[in-house]
Amino acid sequence: MRILVVEDEPKLAEILRTYLEAAGFEVECVADGLKVMASVEHATPDLVLLDLMLPGRDGLDVCRDIRAYAPIPIIMVTARTEEIDRLLGLELGADDYICKPYSPREVVARVKAVLRRSQAHREPASACEAVGLEIEPSAYLARLDGVGLDLTPVEFRLLALLASHPGRIFSRDQVLDGLYDDHRVVTDRAVDSHVKNLRRKLAQVRPGGDLIRSVYGVGYRLDLLADADESS
Ligand code: CA
Repeated sequence: MRILVVEDEPKLAEILRTYLEAAGFEVECVADGLKVMASVEHATPDLVLLDLMLPGRDGLDVCRDIRAYAPIPIIMVTARTEEIDRLLGLELGADDYICKPYSPREVVARVKAVLRRSQAHREPASACEAVGLEIEPSAYLARLDGVGLDLTPVEFRLLALLASHPGRIFSRDQVLDGLYDDHRVVTDRAVDSHVKNLRRKLAQVRPGGDLIRSVYGVGYRLDLLADADESS
């Protein structure tokens, strides 16, 4: 599990890193509000610990940016207890709020609790339906905008894999692992060609709507916001 720590006080960021790593998490730290989205898109964290007062871009705006991008759990960190009421009133969609000063142990416990909750409630199916995609793994059926897709088994598994975590980037290796049970040798080129065929079939149903995004040099993801601005 990867945690993105957004904190502009280097000492605090390091303390959080130490405790979270000791709890078995991978940790990435970002100090500038303007750099958060790049990190979210690249590292696809499982949870974001987000300080409210940041240089570059305010934590409130960053929270909205993340929410617009993908349903990644967010814990907002504020310096004042009174602030929490105001934040709740703004309905930012954060999953929890922590007030400074905090004990790092408490932060780790809250991170674990939010992750447990979000995994229990995670419904990739509803996230997919929001973009018009329905997948029934037991029946090998996939529909886009209500139209059945005529997919090969490999294309179906590819789509089901990407749809299992909408918004998350899957590397070519992860795609290979998901597509072939027997781990036979398959080239990157084969993956690219399956992706290309799948895209073509999706485009037949919805011309111009590019649901599957290539992330250059990294891999692929199913885009929740097909027309999202890549530079944001
Ligand atoms: Ca701060």
